[in-house]
Amino acid sequence: MTGSPALTPPALSVQREGRPRLVVVGNGMAGGRLLEDILACDPQRFAITVFGEEPYGNYNRILLSEVLNGSQEAQNIFLNPLAWYAENGITLHAGRKVVRIDREQRRVYCEDGQSEPYDLLVLATGSKPFIPPIPGTTLRGVFVFRTLDDCRHIASYARQCRRAVVIGGGLLGLEAAKGLMTHDLDVTVVEMAPYLMSVQLDEPGGRVLGQTIERLGIHVRTATTTKEIVGHTHVTAVRFADGTEIPADMVVIAAGIRPNIDLARECGLACERAIVVDDQLRTSDPNIYAVGECVQHNGVVYGLVAPIWEQTKVLARVLTGSDPHARYTGSRIATRLKVMGVDLVSLGRIQDVQSSDEVVQFSEPARQVYWKAIIRNGRLHAACLLGDLGPADQLQRLFHSGAEVPQRRVEIFFPPAASAAPVTLADLPDAQQICDCNGVSKGTIVAAIRAGKCTLPAIGKATRAGTGCGSCKKIIKGLIECFADSVTPDPSEDWYVPAVPMDKPTLVAEIRRRGLKSVSAVLQELGHGEDEKSKNGLASLLKSLWGKEYIDERDARFINDRVHANIQKDGTFSVVPRMYGGVTTPDELIRIGQVAKKYQVPMVKITGGQRIDLLGIRKEDLPKVWADLGMPSGYAYTKALRTVKTCVGSEFCRFGLNDSTGMGIAIEKRFQGFEFPAKVKMAVSGCPRNCAEATVKDVGVVATEGGEWEISIGGAAGAHVRKSDVLCRVSSREEVLRIIGRFLIYYRDNAKWLERTYDFVPRIGLDKIRDIIVHDKLGLGEYLDAEVEKMAAAYVDPWLEREHPAYEGQFDGESRIPLPMVT
Ligand SMILES: Cc1cc2nc3c(=O)[nH]c(=O)nc-3n(C[C@H](O)[C@H](O)[C@H](O)COP(=O)(O)OP(=O)(O)OC[C@H]3O[C@@H](n4cnc5c(N)ncnc54)[C@H](O)[C@@H]3O)c2cc1C
Ligand code: SF4
Repeated sequence: MTGSPALTPPALSVQREGRPRLVVVGNGMAGGRLLEDILACDPQRFAITVFGEEPYGNYNRILLSEVLNGSQEAQNIFLNPLAWYAENGITLHAGRKVVRIDREQRRVYCEDGQSEPYDLLVLATGSKPFIPPIPGTTLRGVFVFRTLDDCRHIASYARQCRRAVVIGGGLLGLEAAKGLMTHDLDVTVVEMAPYLMSVQLDEPGGRVLGQTIERLGIHVRTATTTKEIVGHTHVTAVRFADGTEIPADMVVIAAGIRPNIDLARECGLACERAIVVDDQLRTSDPNIYAVGECVQHNGVVYGLVAPIWEQTKVLARVLTGSDPHARYTGSRIATRLKVMGVDLVSLGRIQDVQSSDEVVQFSEPARQVYWKAIIRNGRLHAACLLGDLGPADQLQRLFHSGAEVPQRRVEIFFPPAASAAPVTLADLPDAQQICDCNGVSKGTIVAAIRAGKCTLPAIGKATRAGTGCGSCKKIIKGLIECFADSVTPDPSEDWYVPAVPMDKPTLVAEIRRRGLKSVSAVLQELGHGEDEKSKNGLASLLKSLWGKEYIDERDARFINDRVHANIQKDGTFSVVPRMYGGVTTPDELIRIGQVAKKYQVPMVKITGGQRIDLLGIRKEDLPKVWADLGMPSGYAYTKALRTVKTCVGSEFCRFGLNDSTGMGIAIEKRFQGFEFPAKVKMAVSGCPRNCAEATVKDVGVVATEGGEWEISIGGAAGAHVRKSDVLCRVSSREEVLRIIGRFLIYYRDNAKWLERTYDFVPRIGLDKIRDIIVHDKLGLGEYLDAEVEKMAAAYVDPWLEREHPAYEGQFDGESRIPLPMVT
């Protein structure tokens, strides 16, 4: 079905809150972008409800590969945090799958039977991984690669594996292979076609890519059909159609995707390969629209984001009525990808060759370079460039403009000398597309730079450029260097939180000068408007600045800080009692066991920080659990000092040079309850063997020869790994506590909201920090020491609120709504 005859905005009856009800099923890249586009057209038009099967806010699926290979933290790929939905009046049901649509009653139904009425419904259900019908796909150790949870499961399982097989040699398979390689696995990619990336490349190109990838240490088997994944309970090998077999501890299936259309098909919407839509993204039911990978338009189903952005823009205009004649006429696919570090540009469909087409090819095997262009009727119809993207800009221009290609076809790749003079970024035409993922042109980026957006994040926020796969970031940086000289940078880039136009030192000084002790007071006197994210940041800052004098307004805080426990994806909470230095007693262990039994705790887990975590506690049980435990809060839920991990140390260990356990306990007791712009982890080791892994903590202490302690700062061992920098050596417990205290307060006062020490220390510079903290060159020592005293004196175990709840209904039970992940 294409080209609907009725190009009119949907006729709507006025409903809830005087506004028509729009329900969106699917909170992925298409669903999320559609909401943004609708708000941009007319924020008041609809009462919007969104259902997303994944228990999170909307995130950038493209960046999952980076999460898997450890170059991005999961929390950084979120596009719209929880607060965004609330701020925009959108009701989000995260973690809830819609299982049925009643088109007659205009209602969607969830698994638990709950339903939601709609006036207009949009399906943005995306795709699901295709699982080949072979034995063994349900064994332990077999994964697909589509969601954040898949990524986490793969990364966690990979720790216990040595050999992995990836079934599928397309974009996803290669990204998965790269991710597995960074986990030190021996990886084999198996592809049924005779070459890799058969969607974007032709056979010679695919072979060049295969050789390049093998040089990176990944085994490649093409023209190989997988017959069976072998194993009893878990994977042990993969068997192929030719009878050969290779051992494997885990398997990632990346054998393609299938549009998620069960819901649409079951309610009788017209479906072929996907949900059939017209030029206004309308399905066969005039009240139901569809967008993204789940749709088929003009016979085409897309599997990349660029077409989706074009679709959501049209749909938003149609739905809001801001352009009732908007039409989606299909997309010309142009992608710039980085596959395992190998650059690739793909324009159109390279396999679509007709006998009358002209084909221009260039290959340079020694450099693994392969270029191919297909010319149809004198115009560039499709092209691929691999290994060297020299002619990419010229090809993209020809492809998008539909201009005639040069008479001497070879000039497509090698322009004549006069026009081959190096083109600077300044020379590029404004219409040149820079960010393919988001379809952002040079002109739009330059306009943002001229408006003062002079950093990558600021440009990303203003234009979305660089927020997709990230391969255009280098060009954006170049444009900033080119055009930002005469521009005054946007001051908001330095603001501590968006709602208060001040950098952190100014904000702190102003808060102190005016004696502002609550978030509402700060927002009223210094801010411009409400902003959930700002509230959390301000609450944390005020608490750390004022200690006991801080006026706690709970609505300014995230749920974790309101109930002093860590919310889990199913809406229950995790409870981690304080165990100073990781040391416990038989009595404490017995009590923990009794509590776990009494409240039927589904999981009791030892954490990476040497504590015991009781997972799955209901909100209404929290006060009783805390009372029964009789232990203080371990602060495992907030931006504060988390744990001080310790090794056995000189008390028992034959290598121990000093009492690391005692030191860890002293540190934890001194700084417990201190809140910071981000969480802080510490560790103490009793000798340089460093069993407590102190050199990858925000603050690490290691006992050295001669009774000294070496203090280091700025380490990390999560998705971001950084060895800490040595700050100084001291010789007594008191000095350790003093230096750490000064550093913590300095960090508290100067770090940006959510900035971990591993970013803070390099930003400020180790030498400068050492001058301030160790040598007191700025004369701040006295102030920093006094602040430590103040914060320590303000410490009150938050779990005492079990006796006197801070506000009515603090621990009331309610239907558990799984929450999007915001950290
Ligand atoms: C690892 C990876 C790397 C990629 N790299 C690139 C790249 O470099 N460039 C590029 O252009 N594209 C890339 N893609 C493809 C791109 O991510 C997709 O094109 C895009 O996410 C499709 O958006 P969508 O909203 O249609 O589907 P999705 O993003 O999959 O969102 C659909 C959402 O709907 C939810 N849902 C489904 N059914 C229901 C239901 N019944 N009830 C409630 N919720 C439901 C799903 O849980 C999902 O969250 C990549 C994809 C992956 C997985
Ligand atoms: S770090 Fe040193 S003292 Fe501590 S347990 Fe290891 S070997 Fe023993």
